[in-house]
Amino acid sequence: MFERSRRAAAQLATQPVAERIQRLAALRRVVLARQEEIVDRIQSDCGKSRSDALISEIFGVLDNLAWLEAHVAKMLADRKQHTPIALMGKTSWTWYEPLGTILVISPWNYPFYQAIVPIACAYVTGNAVIYKPSEWTPLTGLVEDLTRAAGFMEDAVQIAYGDGAVGAALIEQRPDKIFFTGSTRTGAAIMAQASRHLIPVELELGGKDAMIVFDDVDVQRAAAGAAWGALTTTGQSCTSVERLYVQASIYDRFRDALVAEVRRLKQEVDSDGDADLGAMTTDFQVKIVAEHVADARAKGARFVTGGDWDGTSRLIPPMVLDGVRDDMKVAREETFGPVIPLLPFSSEEEVIRLANDSPYGLTASVWSKDLDRARRVARALKVGGVSINNVMATEANPALPFGGLKQSGFGRYKGEQGLHAFCNVKSVLIDKDSAKIEANWYPYTAEKYRLFSDLTRSLFSDGPLRLAKFAIAGLKLERYSNRVAKTGRQKK
Ligand code: NAD
Repeated sequence: MFERSRRAAAQLATQPVAERIQRLAALRRVVLARQEEIVDRIQSDCGKSRSDALISEIFGVLDNLAWLEAHVAKMLADRKQHTPIALMGKTSWTWYEPLGTILVISPWNYPFYQAIVPIACAYVTGNAVIYKPSEWTPLTGLVEDLTRAAGFMEDAVQIAYGDGAVGAALIEQRPDKIFFTGSTRTGAAIMAQASRHLIPVELELGGKDAMIVFDDVDVQRAAAGAAWGALTTTGQSCTSVERLYVQASIYDRFRDALVAEVRRLKQEVDSDGDADLGAMTTDFQVKIVAEHVADARAKGARFVTGGDWDGTSRLIPPMVLDGVRDDMKVAREETFGPVIPLLPFSSEEEVIRLANDSPYGLTASVWSKDLDRARRVARALKVGGVSINNVMATEANPALPFGGLKQSGFGRYKGEQGLHAFCNVKSVLIDKDSAKIEANWYPYTAEKYRLFSDLTRSLFSDGPLRLAKFAIAGLKLERYSNRVAKTGRQKK
């Protein structure tokens, strides 16, 4: 696979970006035309509701493809950069070139979105891709089928099926970059393995995202946002609301509104879009949720909804938890299920401290009519993205870079910064073919030392005549440098 990939990468790198953009447009049309079939495949691998598959995966993919189509040419065009006065006469550029073969390793929660979006970003920048889906949701044959139908270059996108051992074997083939999305534990293992070959990695890992609700909000709307943010894809989203901090003065009112909202939800792996949330995807994740729930119960949490779950069924009912303490697993570890722990707070300072007291730092949301306060809190949060008066909204905009801090990983994908993460950002400085001998070239002499000191002082000191002084010092130094380059160091 790697041999074929490297050949494809060499060919792809010579192709005009406009041709690759055409492939993305074709892929968008293919996905659109085959939408219902793809939703069927996502549902059968994941057990999510049909609307979850449509809204988070199909719409998300199309939105990202459309955004790339519209903006990639500009983002990959050679860019003229500022050239400082000390380098007068030159021009400076950045060129955005492919890296080679990108290994994309993805998790099971958004198997279509987490396949197509990184593949599209890597391909459009001119890289070949080897994509390893999760063994739990491989969507076998689908990505090959779609990229072939869209006319992607042969061997430029190859799929490697298998588990973690296959992922580790692929890393040994030394891809030019690893783009990994998944758990913090696996991310650390991949980084350790990659470090042996100095392969750059980008890690999009887990989260324990906080939603912070101040007492001046529209309670109904915030409760509706909380229900969706915590329960979309049955809570199996890296940016799910996993800690819901509510200001004490509206705590009871908010909890009641949230409970009313949650009680209205319909849970089913449906066939027509008429269900809110579906099932959990894997039994091992069900076990983690059961463990967190048992820990919360043992430590005194009250289950306002969902208390009757049998502890094993994949259709875990949404659980709103009251009386949650900081030391419970539901308040500290990634649950990745439909569990909503409510935590009261009294002041702005307190909630910032509580929200930041986490090993994770993916995203958060802050809800308040007072936008100054919301912005202040958003700035104080140690996370990679914040939605204000909305939830999971930063990741809904393909123009915004996405990624985390702390144990949520590092690097950014999506947006311009994310696209450039798939590039060798090559710096280029172009000098005219002039006769000029640079002052910093040899020979170094005592006179040059004195003139260079004058130039340095004039350039970096303060004062109105700075540039004039620099021009005079520069002229003297240039004249001397040209002369001494010809005559050489004079023997004493
Ligand atoms: P996981 O880490 O178990 O597996 C992810 C992928 O890594 C799978 O394809 C798996 O086969 C592969 N893998 C496992 N061990 C490997 C190894 N040693 N070498 C190479 N590859 C290996 O994660 P998961 O359970 O599939 O996904 C859930 C996790 O993903 C959650 O923690 C969730 O928060 C996170 N996630 C993060 C984001 C994000 O963008 N930050 C998005 C979605 C999911």
